[in-house]
Amino acid sequence: MIAAEAVSKSFGPTEVLKDVSLGVRSGEVVSIIGPSGSGKTTLLRCLALLETPSAGRVTMHGKIISDGLNGPEVRRAAARVRPDIGMVFQHFNLWPHMTVLQNIVEAPRLVRKMDKAEATGLAMQLLEKVGLAEKRDAYPARLSGGQQQRVAIARALAMTPQVMFFDEATSALDPELRHEVLRVMRQLAEDGMTMAVVTHEMGFARNVSSRVVFMDQGRIVESGAPASFFDKPQTERAVRFLRQIQ
Ligand code: ADP
Repeated sequence: MIAAEAVSKSFGPTEVLKDVSLGVRSGEVVSIIGPSGSGKTTLLRCLALLETPSAGRVTMHGKIISDGLNGPEVRRAAARVRPDIGMVFQHFNLWPHMTVLQNIVEAPRLVRKMDKAEATGLAMQLLEKVGLAEKRDAYPARLSGGQQQRVAIARALAMTPQVMFFDEATSALDPELRHEVLRVMRQLAEDGMTMAVVTHEMGFARNVSSRVVFMDQGRIVESGAPASFFDKPQTERAVRFLRQIQ
């Protein structure tokens, strides 16, 4: 569905992604793991069109939506698919001056041109799904971090995205609040959502994802089924990483 093809990315003199290729198929849940600074977030942000590759390209359904040059045709293709790409960040980035419901209906109203009743109906369905229907009129500051993140997930889903990216969605949360967000992510995966997830949650990577991608120093070092990666890592670097986090 969406793929990074030979993507490199430099910030100034530092090359943080080196010729990385990663495709995500429809319905697949890919967990991207690896040491801090290995380029996981940058790869996800390139796929989500939040960073432009220095070389290589990003394609969606085979069409180039981002490359080093981003000429007019690529920019048009990107503009068409951007609403289909959902993103959930480590820091929830809800609009503080809007209620939960307003946060969710804003984008479908503006971008999908949904009328108010339809957008509200959809938002309430999504709030039910993430277990927060009773918080519809609350402001984000009154919610716990776990609740804010669940609202952020509902907000992303309100655009009916084809793919959802999660960038360390539980890292800013206290341990006891993580499970409520992970439960929602797991449910989404079971519902068949196409997902790529940068995570430190090895339980999620092992039990929920269909594939694990291990990065180190700007490269994909290993990629495979979760059970084989965790039980029989093939590279010394993955062995060392798994030993360190245990
Ligand atoms: P990870 O998600 O694996 O921790 P990142 O993709 O966040 O890794 O970062 C990879 C490297 O790129 C790090 O060394 C980081 O400091 C650097 N980096 C990331 N974003 C920027 C930026 N906007 N400007 C400069 N350096 C950056």
